[in-house]
Amino acid sequence: MLLPADPKASFLAHADEIRAAIERVLASGHYILGPEVESFEKEFSAYQNDGYTVGVANGTEAIEIALRALGVKAGDAVATVANTVTATVAAIEQIGAKPVFVEIDPMTLTMSPVALAATLSKTPAIKAVVPVHLYGQPADLPAILAVASKSGAKVVEDCAQAHGAAIGGRKVGTFGDAAAFSFYPTKNLGALGDGGAIFTRDENFAAKVRQLRQYGWRERYISEIPGRNSRLDELQAAILRVKLKYLEAENAKRRELAGRYLTRLKNAGTLRLPQVGAGQTHAFHQFTVRVAKRDALRAALLDRGISCGILYPVPVHRQPAFADAALSLPETERACAEVLCLPCHPALTASDVDSVCDEILRWNQTT
Ligand SMILES: *Cc1c(COP(=O)(O)O)cnc(C)c1O
Repeated sequence: MLLPADPKASFLAHADEIRAAIERVLASGHYILGPEVESFEKEFSAYQNDGYTVGVANGTEAIEIALRALGVKAGDAVATVANTVTATVAAIEQIGAKPVFVEIDPMTLTMSPVALAATLSKTPAIKAVVPVHLYGQPADLPAILAVASKSGAKVVEDCAQAHGAAIGGRKVGTFGDAAAFSFYPTKNLGALGDGGAIFTRDENFAAKVRQLRQYGWRERYISEIPGRNSRLDELQAAILRVKLKYLEAENAKRRELAGRYLTRLKNAGTLRLPQVGAGQTHAFHQFTVRVAKRDALRAALLDRGISCGILYPVPVHRQPAFADAALSLPETERACAEVLCLPCHPALTASDVDSVCDEILRWNQTT
């Protein structure tokens, strides 16, 4: 069975090093916020080409804490997209802020800067914008920042699917006021449990985030601001240090597989393939095609032992917890009805991709 993601294979690829890292932590006597977290934070900052990384408990809290540190409060409005995991929106609601959904660009399936400009002029209360680098495809951050700064809104990049993606050679996460990463096991950089981080180029902002993640402490036992507990633990940090060393090579493998899909499927008429813009480095967390008869293709592939993901089948504004019947986002709704994520992760081979393509081309001929 070909899987849409394979966290076990990702562990097995580095099993010896990971076991050694776990042993090192067990023997150290430090289990929370110790030398492994500190080293991982430095190494991830170096990967981002300088800046500050603060490890937290998961990606959802990374978004929430980043927004809080930027001053977002209950009653404020925060703009984001509706074709994302509900975690992005849950982070906004944890603060008591109100999510405002912005339409996407149908080419990239990420936030449309033009739609953002229209939303910001209609809703001046928007304090922050959370674009999502969906599937590892960079959102148009230069344009989004230009639009947001005109209305004084801050920008938190949701980089949960885009470790290593870049625009003009510059890594995503380094554009906005802050960035949130998730290390959920299936992500391009995945732990063996929950984990997340906030990245920023601003030292004072990083210090504030450090306070927020641990009870608002300025120093031990002295809370300067209201805080909470959202910590990355030593075991996960040690595992992430191993995986980080291989992130670039594994992303290159993802791009190679994606390149093979793009070549082999370019004449599959009923499919729309992902578009990578000039100067963009796609991290291919997912290789996502669009196809009108999505559910039929998915079933046909599953029949042949190929399991595909659908990220995401129902836009957030159509889900019971967040339903907004009055809101219409035609491009978002169409995308959610058509997207299909083909298996694309570093444990796959070129011949795996070929067998997926063979099945798709066969199906394509019979429909
Ligand atoms: C995974 C993910 C999150 C949430 O991360 P968790 O670590 O699961 O909390 C947020 N946004 C996006 C786009 C994600 O893919």
